Amino acid sequence: MNRLLWQCAAGLLLATLGTRPAFSVEVRDVRLWAGPDSTRVVLDLSGNAQHSLLVLQNPDRVVLDVSGARLARTAHTPSAGAGNVKQVRMAHRPSGELRIVLDLTQPIQAKSFLTAPNKRYGYRLVVDLGVAAHADRPVKVQHAPADARDLIIAIDAGHGGEDPGAIGKYGTREKDVVLAIARELAVKIDAEAGMKAFLTRSGDYFIPLPDRMRRARAQQADLFVSIHADSIRDRSIDGSSVYILSQRGATDEASRWLAERENASDLIGGVSLDDKDDVLASVLLDLSQSAALNASQVAATSVLRELAQAGEVRKHQVQQARFIVLKAPDIPSMLVETAYISNPQEEQRLRTHAHQARLAAAIHQGVHDYFYANPPSGTRIAQLAAAGAPRPASANTASAGGAGE
Ligand SMILES: [Zn+2]
Repeated sequence: MNRLLWQCAAGLLLATLGTRPAFSVEVRDVRLWAGPDSTRVVLDLSGNAQHSLLVLQNPDRVVLDVSGARLARTAHTPSAGAGNVKQVRMAHRPSGELRIVLDLTQPIQAKSFLTAPNKRYGYRLVVDLGVAAHADRPVKVQHAPADARDLIIAIDAGHGGEDPGAIGKYGTREKDVVLAIARELAVKIDAEAGMKAFLTRSGDYFIPLPDRMRRARAQQADLFVSIHADSIRDRSIDGSSVYILSQRGATDEASRWLAERENASDLIGGVSLDDKDDVLASVLLDLSQSAALNASQVAATSVLRELAQAGEVRKHQVQQARFIVLKAPDIPSMLVETAYISNPQEEQRLRTHAHQARLAAAIHQGVHDYFYANPPSGTRIAQLAAAGAPRPASANTASAGGAGE
């Protein structure tokens, strides 16, 4: 046995113990979520931890060191890459850090933050990898041949990725059913002359609440419709509701609770650290909110009327609440709680394609009626509305039963 080597090893061990407690935190899981223009890496931690983040080139990679961390034996780690991440490599370093290397497919901007425990998760370390300079600037909207533009309807499927939203008795996740309804609605809107749909998310990934509206604004949306499925302790309660942003306060206590829960998505999915636009938005909000709110009220009433014809509604008036997701000063916006996923019958219906199509058709008809009654000038819908009686939307043909998968 080499005596000198043994002494060195012992000295190193002592030095390590002296500077920090070895392995003060466990990394329990590592998850990857790929969106179209960013990828999120989430580490579940047993407690608070210090970390450092380094972006390197040639080859493009991100190095994340978590101090005093050890990978739990039971941890699930991504076996393959996703989105901007080619592969994930991990190693324990002699200095007591867990080093995680994310090999990238292209140069990216990285941002990391630690979130405190909430109802659903413990401590999480989140790394967001976005392609530099993505579509924050307004996209040039394509003009219709007749030199009149198409209306852009932004459809926002609530939750996604790390945030499943409400979960029904049979395990149905809100994020999945609302995405299915949103896609169905997009198909119907795209099938109508003079309208184009834009989905804020088209897959299973999380978008921070302010980003949803930002994406809609970048597309110059004429209307923003956020789609959700509600949940409440009393499983007998059912029916849909339509909300708009309240000017101040919520209409009633229930709306306030709901708003707090929907807004909590941001705490579950993670908080964005650079929200300059939100400050700007809050200033603009006071200036132009009333006009957009009036339009929101009329559009939401139109959608609620159609939902009432398609099935149960919880309340026959448009509700008002302070949803972060609806805070757009300039875009008429509404949040549709399509049903109570907490109600077992509604949960079962929400899973079926027929009911998803029925809800989408009702929302579409409401949007159609609103725009034919209030067509923005310079749009193709304005021309069509002026040319004669409004063409009925797809509501009558949509649930012609069994079509589709
Ligand atoms: Zn929701």
